[in-house]
Amino acid sequence: MNISRREFIRQAGTGCAVVLLATGGGIAAPVSVLAGSIPRPTKDDRCPVCGMFAYKYPHWMAGYVFKDGTKVFFCSPKCFFHNLFNMDKYQPGKTRDDLELIWVTDYYTAKPVNAEDPDMRYVAGSTLVGPMGWDVVPVKGVDAAETLKRDYFGEEILRLDDVTPDHIERARKGGGRKTKY
Ligand SMILES: [Zn+2]
Repeated sequence: MNISRREFIRQAGTGCAVVLLATGGGIAAPVSVLAGSIPRPTKDDRCPVCGMFAYKYPHWMAGYVFKDGTKVFFCSPKCFFHNLFNMDKYQPGKTRDDLELIWVTDYYTAKPVNAEDPDMRYVAGSTLVGPMGWDVVPVKGVDAAETLKRDYFGEEILRLDDVTPDHIERARKGGGRKTKY
C-alpha cells in the first residue's frame, strides 16, 4: 500500500515536471523574441503628445519603431493612438508606412505586445483610468477583453483597425463612462 502510493506520487511528479518543461519551452521562445524586438524607454524619453516621461507608466506605455531606427515612446494608449492619427503633426514628413513596429502594453500582464498582433483587442469606454485619464485599454485575447469589458463596464471591444479618432477624442475629452457602480 505504502509502496504503491509512493510510486504513484513519483510518477505524478515526473509527469508534472515533463508538462512544466514543455510548457516553459513553448512560452519562452516567443517571449524572448518579443523582448528583443520591443525597445524600452530611457528616463529621457518623453511622450511626444503630452510631454510626460513614458518609463513612469510601465503598465500603460506604448511606442513606435520607425524603419529608419527612430523610436518614439508614449505614456499611454491614448497618446499612442492620437499620434498615429496625427503623424504629420508629431513626426512631420513621416507616415504609417514608415513604421517598422508599433507596440502597446497588455493590461493584464503588463508586457509589451505588438499592437498589430491578431489577438490584441482594445476596450473603449471603460471606467479604467490611465496616466492621462480615460483610455482605450489594450488587452491580449478575446477572453481577457471580455473580462475587462465586464469588470470595468467597457462599451466596445475593438480590433486595432477599428479604433477611430472618435474613440480617442472621446477618451481625451473625458468621454469614458462616468458612472461607476
Ligand atoms: Zn502621453
